[in-house]
Amino acid sequence: MAKDLNPKCKQCRRAGEKLLLKGERCNTPKCAIVKRNFPPGFHGSKGKKRMTDYGLQLAEKQKAKRQYNLTEKQFTIFFERARRQQGNLGENFLKLLEMRLDNVIYRLGLASSRNQARQFVGHGLFAVNDRMVNIPSYIVRAGEVIKIKSNKREAKVFSALSEKLKNFNAPGWLSLKKDTLEAKIIEAPKMDMIRPNFNIQMIVEYYSR
Ligand code: SF4
Repeated sequence: MAKDLNPKCKQCRRAGEKLLLKGERCNTPKCAIVKRNFPPGFHGSKGKKRMTDYGLQLAEKQKAKRQYNLTEKQFTIFFERARRQQGNLGENFLKLLEMRLDNVIYRLGLASSRNQARQFVGHGLFAVNDRMVNIPSYIVRAGEVIKIKSNKREAKVFSALSEKLKNFNAPGWLSLKKDTLEAKIIEAPKMDMIRPNFNIQMIVEYYSR
């Protein structure tokens, strides 16, 4: 299955909750979940159908995949990578998703959505340990330092960011110097730091059929 080309707000309406795919618009009354919180389509407003176990697992997988802005193939590759690790499969999978560089940029507040974060990374706006990294799926490691590349620091998109981030708190596994916009990975995230809005166990069951 290729990239989901459905309009982003429709993806949220299908999931029945905010997936925060459109940056700042998601926190305004213009959000489609605020205005039309029922599934899209002609019969959408008639309410949700009862789902089978498979349907529930599929829905959780779709919700997570859309939030992390991944294609089916990318999502499956990450799951298989987690499968090769020792320990709890669901936790490992979630950690890998969180530690993607594009997700980290989003979690740090340096981009307003994961989609924007991926574009920034792809355009080579960030350096990890002083080396430019333009691979959104790069997995960060504890101790690594992320900076906006010095020649991009004055870019319009970052100029007002320090001010905007005044009341923003990055998750506990990341630290961010708001004046310099320099960040450090303190440790790998723990489950209670991520608190996903999807059921990771159901996703594991979906892939274990
Ligand atoms: Fe989803 Fe954001 Fe659209 Fe609201 S505005 S429906 S959270 S993408």
